[in-house]
Amino acid sequence: MKKLLFLLLSTSAFAQNPDPSKITLVLHGGAGTITRQNMTPEKEKAYREALNRALQTGYDVLKKGGTSLDAVEATIHVMEDSPLFNAGKGAVFTHEGKNELDAAVMDGKTLKAGAVAGVTTVRNPISAARAVMEKSEHVMMIGKGAETFAKEKGLTIVDPSYFYTENRWQGLQKALKEEKVKLDHSEEKPAKPTKAPKNASSRAEELIFSEGKKFGTVGCVALDQYGNLAAGTSTGGMTNKRYGRVGDAPIIGAGTYADNETCAVSATGHGEYFIRSVVAYDIAALMRYKGLSVEEAAKEVVNKKLVERGGEGGVIALDAKGNFSMPFNSEGMYRGFITADGKKTVEIYKD
Ligand code: ASP
Repeated sequence: MKKLLFLLLSTSAFAQNPDPSKITLVLHGGAGTITRQNMTPEKEKAYREALNRALQTGYDVLKKGGTSLDAVEATIHVMEDSPLFNAGKGAVFTHEGKNELDAAVMDGKTLKAGAVAGVTTVRNPISAARAVMEKSEHVMMIGKGAETFAKEKGLTIVDPSYFYTENRWQGLQKALKEEKVKLDHSEEKPAKPTKAPKNASSRAEELIFSEGKKFGTVGCVALDQYGNLAAGTSTGGMTNKRYGRVGDAPIIGAGTYADNETCAVSATGHGEYFIRSVVAYDIAALMRYKGLSVEEAAKEVVNKKLVERGGEGGVIALDAKGNFSMPFNSEGMYRGFITADGKKTVEIYKD
């Protein structure tokens, strides 16, 4: 009996076997038309500061022995609470002038996942997604039900006006104006697709989502000292989206995915394309079935498949050894990473 107990204890200790040198955290703050030309020094400084703060927050959690899930949630909170990003405070507006938020989280160790979509009163949708994963029998909850659930679980509930920012409101006004101009114009001369061949539905999408093509979703993938991966994504979706539209972020396998045996992925970009291409799972599948590295798999999907299909955006992807990749096919992507030694790197532009 004693022997058995010892064996059990030592095996579980071995399974845990914390190794702080494994710690890695990668994040993104959205992809899109982010160029040096349309950036001011003040704006760039603000983004760099926020991204560094988010990286440090997640790292501190990991360093203290927290799990990758804890780190992902804490990192995303920082970005959700910052008006700079299209998630939580600072979320973009729907066509009807509302903020409807989507988020998802996935645990690479257990393959458990949780997501919420179309919530309007939950201050930190990533925590609601985690509550769905850990405190319900379900994977996804939407709208009013998700809000009731979040409230029941003690999450912070806010008035919808909390999410208002002048900047995003102006973004919607611009999108509405552009859409009108394009629609009026299109009666005489249809707008040309801006990219390589797109399918029929993309013309309508282009009209809806024309506003500057800024995808400011936030996401994080992390590896903890126990060797476990987690991924999370949180977003306001796309400016001028229609009622009830749900993007890729809360769809497990599209915008968010994690599996210790392959990788953790969080995406940002034109959600409709990411859903149709099942982007996050495709990256994991290329690793599992074709033996590609995380970098090869992520680049194959983002820089080849999505480009061929006209889907703009990027991903962050991390494997259980700490290898990661941050490819994007748009002009820029707010992104960064922090490694075990605590060294932070933040990047914005293509080159
Ligand atoms: N992927 C998000 C969506 O389609 C948008 C973004 O990345 O900003 O909802």
